[in-house]
Amino acid sequence: MSDILLQVRGLRAQYGQTKVLHGLDFDVKTGGITTILGANGAGKTTTLRAVCGMVQTQGEITLGGERIDGKATENIVRQGVAHVPDGRGTFLNFSVEENLRVGAYTRKDKAEVALDFERMYTYFPRLKERRKQQAGTLSGGEQQMLAVSRALMLRPRLLLLDEPSFGLAPLVVQELFEIFKAINQSDRISMLLVEQNASLALKLADHAYLLETGKVVISGTSESIRNDESVRRSYLGY
Ligand code: ATP
Repeated sequence: MSDILLQVRGLRAQYGQTKVLHGLDFDVKTGGITTILGANGAGKTTTLRAVCGMVQTQGEITLGGERIDGKATENIVRQGVAHVPDGRGTFLNFSVEENLRVGAYTRKDKAEVALDFERMYTYFPRLKERRKQQAGTLSGGEQQMLAVSRALMLRPRLLLLDEPSFGLAPLVVQELFEIFKAINQSDRISMLLVEQNASLALKLADHAYLLETGKVVISGTSESIRNDESVRRSYLGY
C-alpha cells in the first residue's frame, strides 16, 4: 500500500472568473494528519472544497492512487472522503441521533453502523446524553462534536476538517483536538485540517503547508514549520 493517501498536484480553482488557487501541490500520508495554514482568504476552505469536488478545478487529485478530480461530490464521498465544513453542516432540525444516521447513509452494514453509534458516544459522551435533542439547541462545541461524528459515521479514509476550532472556548478546543488525535491513532483515519490557529494545528499535524493568496509558500514537517522564523513571527506570534 502506498504511503500517500491523498496526492494533489497543480491544483487550480476558481469561482467564475476569480482564480483562487494557483497550482498547489500537497500530500496527506496514509494514517497521517496534514494541516493547511494561512490567513483569511488564503484559499484554505477552497482547497477542501476542491478535494471533495465542490468547486471547479484543474490539476490532479488522487485518493489511494485513483483520480478523483472532476468526479461528483457524491462519488468522492462514496470513495471515503468525509467533509466537516466551516459552519459545521449539521442538520439543525434533526436530533443528534438522526444526524448520525444521515452520516451513515452510504453504508449497508447495519450491525457495524450500530457499533459506530456507540463508538461516537464513547468519544463524545455529551452527545449520548443529548441524543434525542435537536442539533440546533446544542452548544457550539457540541455541534462541532456532532459534525465530526456525523462525518466519522461514513467510516471515511480521509476526514476533511475546516476550522474546527472556530468560535469555541479554549477548553472545548483542547478536548476536541485530543479526540482528533485519538481517532487518528486508534482508527487510522487520515486527516486534512484547515486552521487559522497555527499553533494548535501544528501540535496535531505531522505535516504542514502554509498558503498565501492561493500558493504554497512553505511546507514541511510540523516541527520544521514551527521553527521557521517567518512562520513564528507572522502566525505564531513569538
Ligand atoms: P477564511 O479563513 O477567511 O475562510 P480561506 O483561506 O478559507 O479564508 P477561502 O474561503 O478559500 O479562504 O477564500 C479564498 C478566496 O476566494 C477569497 O478571496 C474569497 O473571497 C474567495 N471566495 C470564496 N468563496 C467564494 C465564492 N463562493 N465566490 C467567489 N469568491 C469566493
